[in-house]
Amino acid sequence: MTEPDTQSETANEPRDFIRERVRSDLNDGTTQSVVTRFPPEPNGYLHIGHAKSICLNFGIASEFAGKCNLRFDDTNPAKEEQEFIDAIEEDVRWLGFQWSGQPKHASDYFDTLYTWAEHLIEAGKAYVDDLNAEEMRLYRGTLTEPGKDSPHRSRSVQENLDLFRRMKAGEFPDGAKVLRAKIDMAAGNINLRDPAIYRIVHKPHPRTGETWCIYPTYDFAHGQSDAIEGITHSLCTLEFEDHRPLYEWLIENLPTPSTPKQYEFARLNMTYTVLSKRRLTQLVKDQHVNGWSDPRMPTISGLRRRGIPAAAIRDFVSRLGVTKSDSTVDPALLDHCVREYLNKQAERRMAVLRPLKVVIENYPEGQSESLDAVNNPEDETAGNRTVTFSREIYIEQEDFMEDAPKKFFRLAPGREVRLRWAYFITCNDVIKNDAGDVVELRCTYDPETKGGNAPDGRKVKGTLHWVSAVDSIDAEVRLYDHLFTDPNPGKSEDFLATLNAESLEVLKGCKLEPSIVDFPVSLALQFERMGYFAKDPDSSDQTPVFNRTMTLRDSWAKIQSKS
Ligand code: ATP
Ligand code: MG
Repeated sequence: MTEPDTQSETANEPRDFIRERVRSDLNDGTTQSVVTRFPPEPNGYLHIGHAKSICLNFGIASEFAGKCNLRFDDTNPAKEEQEFIDAIEEDVRWLGFQWSGQPKHASDYFDTLYTWAEHLIEAGKAYVDDLNAEEMRLYRGTLTEPGKDSPHRSRSVQENLDLFRRMKAGEFPDGAKVLRAKIDMAAGNINLRDPAIYRIVHKPHPRTGETWCIYPTYDFAHGQSDAIEGITHSLCTLEFEDHRPLYEWLIENLPTPSTPKQYEFARLNMTYTVLSKRRLTQLVKDQHVNGWSDPRMPTISGLRRRGIPAAAIRDFVSRLGVTKSDSTVDPALLDHCVREYLNKQAERRMAVLRPLKVVIENYPEGQSESLDAVNNPEDETAGNRTVTFSREIYIEQEDFMEDAPKKFFRLAPGREVRLRWAYFITCNDVIKNDAGDVVELRCTYDPETKGGNAPDGRKVKGTLHWVSAVDSIDAEVRLYDHLFTDPNPGKSEDFLATLNAESLEVLKGCKLEPSIVDFPVSLALQFERMGYFAKDPDSSDQTPVFNRTMTLRDSWAKIQSKS
């Protein structure tokens, strides 16, 4: 049940425009050795979209014998937390990747970044501005109109240096001043209209404490951190395409030790899912879900808790490829990858989610026997186990029908079915409660059919899963559905309006074959005929809890065969 390593998956060499670029840079000597980085802001948990960026950055480093850094983009002390840092590291490792050396932080470079800001001021390429955010916005112009110069744009180098040092010394309140790069207020690209590069934020930082009350902006920290780390290919999503000229301007105008290049690829979007951290944060804070790792969340930790294997996520990402055009993927593709993986890897067990008691009247009271069962028909090495058969067993309520149509190949009065790994049984009697619900079936078994075949060649159409009443274990099982009913929940601000009220169904008193409870948390197994399930960390000795990872029905295969 071990997962294949990432190496063997890359044997069928992924190809895309970024890998082609890396290959050609290595071939013509532009790049000696490839260095990439994954740069999360620690203000939330990683999600399936991040997995795309992780697989790309770490994948390229490993395919081309290079390195990939994990760098926390921790330039905003207001929103960042240690909990997120720990979760991000755990998720990257779980996905099967290891960063080069220690994790790095933009804050490791605050001293250098500060020196470089003074360097720009001294070169007449940065100035301290007193305009407030609203005024700055007005001065910036629009896509069709050029901006206009701030009245402070022509401050002398001396005055700028003095003001910037006083910003650093804490003389001014938040927002009173900013340091801006002096580029071009008429530039067609608005990012070049004198972007802010340092802001005043009187907040202690998780790593640098009270040392700073000014912090570099994303644009000033990001590319410069890349240059300090010797990143060769800085890969980011398409929304940063318009920032590339600024990225290049800063590298060109600063004494950086290397010249990284930025490349953009399309982000991953998924129907029935929100991937914006702001929205995911809102779901957590307002308790629409049970924390960042709720199995309905598209977070890596939520997927893991649901029982989704890392290998299936890597497979999913590799099937998407890396392109420059935005698209939205159907979560059914991820489900398909999960089923394909689990069908081969997951052990089978029997569990009855909505039990109906069956008494086998011709089986002696107090007797039981052990029957052989195969753990995984797709994998001989998974071996066998025994299951207990006894006079009282449970079957699934939906596997019995009192007035069954002809095509109902399960149990009904007078009909015979096979119990998986056991015997044929025939239903003779139905017992109901006062409300008229079926509460028990009275059946007989045919001792000649042990193992599931009749010596007289008689056939039955249905095979049911079951568990013995003598040794089954009671459990809670949680069934999940999409978190949203709208295929595109992110399109409106009111995305909460389309939350699926039925995204979680909790079943109690489910009956499990005993060995199921010994499975480790989050390792998916197949409950025969019912789907894939994995133990939840909420499990206690008294009450094991299982999450449904996935049903068995493959809707992606259907979508594929239609198109
Ligand atoms: P936000 O939701 O606020 O836009 P973010 O998801 O961009 O935040 P970061 O922590 O900055 O959060 O992301 C880290 C890296 O992951 C970035 O390089 C970013 O481009 C990449 N990334 C984020 N979301 C996706 C996505 N949906 N698909 C592919 N890559 C992504
Ligand atoms: Mg971001």
